[in-house]
Amino acid sequence: MLTVNEVEKFILNLVKPITDKELVPLSQATNRILAENISSSFDFPYDDNSAMDGYAVKYQNVAMASQDSPVSLKIIEEIPAGYCPQKTILDGETSRIFTGAILPQGADSIVIQENTQREGDQIKVFASPLKNEFVRYQGSYYRAGECLLSAGYKINPPEMAILAAAQCLEVPVIRSPIIAILSTGDELIAPEESMEKGKIIDSNQYLLASFIQQNGGIPLSLGIIPDHPLALENAIKEALNQADWVISTGGVSVGDYDYVDQVLEKLGGKIHVKGVKMKPGKPLTVATFCHDKLYFGIPGNPVSTMVTCWRFLQTAIEKLSAKKNYSYPSIVKGITFNNLRSQGTRETYVWGNVSLIKGHYQFTIAKGSHNSGNLVNLQQINGLAIIPINTNLIEIGDDVEIMLVNN
Ligand code: AMP
Ligand code: MG
Repeated sequence: MLTVNEVEKFILNLVKPITDKELVPLSQATNRILAENISSSFDFPYDDNSAMDGYAVKYQNVAMASQDSPVSLKIIEEIPAGYCPQKTILDGETSRIFTGAILPQGADSIVIQENTQREGDQIKVFASPLKNEFVRYQGSYYRAGECLLSAGYKINPPEMAILAAAQCLEVPVIRSPIIAILSTGDELIAPEESMEKGKIIDSNQYLLASFIQQNGGIPLSLGIIPDHPLALENAIKEALNQADWVISTGGVSVGDYDYVDQVLEKLGGKIHVKGVKMKPGKPLTVATFCHDKLYFGIPGNPVSTMVTCWRFLQTAIEKLSAKKNYSYPSIVKGITFNNLRSQGTRETYVWGNVSLIKGHYQFTIAKGSHNSGNLVNLQQINGLAIIPINTNLIEIGDDVEIMLVNN
């Protein structure tokens, strides 16, 4: 059976990034992945402008100004932001200027208003700026025509602002991946159905849909499939037809009603991963169809499903989405505030809370039962302590590796 690190590598090698592009209106571009390099026909800043409220001057006119020997200048114009200056500054002259306003011809520096005193249409300057100080020069951040944003970048708030400033009203993005979700199990009912003895409500469908959405995918919920080979076969065929990837939960263990693997093989799938030395989450199946469609058969227990998503699927979905520099799980070193136990045969993930106190991560185990069927105490956790294979106990106060999860 493969280790967690081996399975992670195996999965990432199987992932082929989507190349299909689409145009979306700027307002809908958040969280999408840029499909092309973006450039602008504008320089940034668009013009030379003032970074301060003050007075636009020729540096040489005020270079010697001091408290004891102020320099007097004549105000020839007032330049609020959004206004185009009409006059050129000559020796002995200045224009009143405000933050963001265009620098007038002839000026090269800004005297901040705190260093001046106004008397009618004259000012006294008591201190000189450095040459060019407080001027934001046209093109000093970016030159028109250069690459402004690169293909593969995720569009977050800063990129939204940059796209807006470049008047990129239609943004070329990678098509969002469609990921089908199947819940297998005769015991399952949908949340809207009435409860019966022996039944379990299909919570995984919602967990997975939410996780896929959180990671920029489009979940395609295909409902509950009974533990019956033919029903499973039809459902998996339909899922493969409609989606880039398929995730099913349940039916991959060694029980008499666990049919997923045999159906995958019957449909021509190639099984690459069959089980991982991990707890929770051991009975994981990863298969491919037609080389690039991935199928993830995840064990049904909700905690196994969640931990498998965090450990393997987050990075894989980022790569599928064509994100440049897709990220791996963040694993930090900290100290545990509880004893952490494992049988030692599998890499064990214990869920809880991590906080950063005076530069040190500290881990506290979630209260309640640590059973992979207990979805209740997964709420609000933000870390998984990792107990390596061949370790049975990490004692209170000892170092532990903690995977940060973005809850
Ligand atoms: P399985 O992997 O099919 O053996 O299922 C393992 C456990 O997870 C069983 O207790 C199932 O009832 C439970 N389970 C399976 N699928 C789901 C689901 N979709 N939502 C919640 N629990 C599930
Ligand atoms: Mg089952």
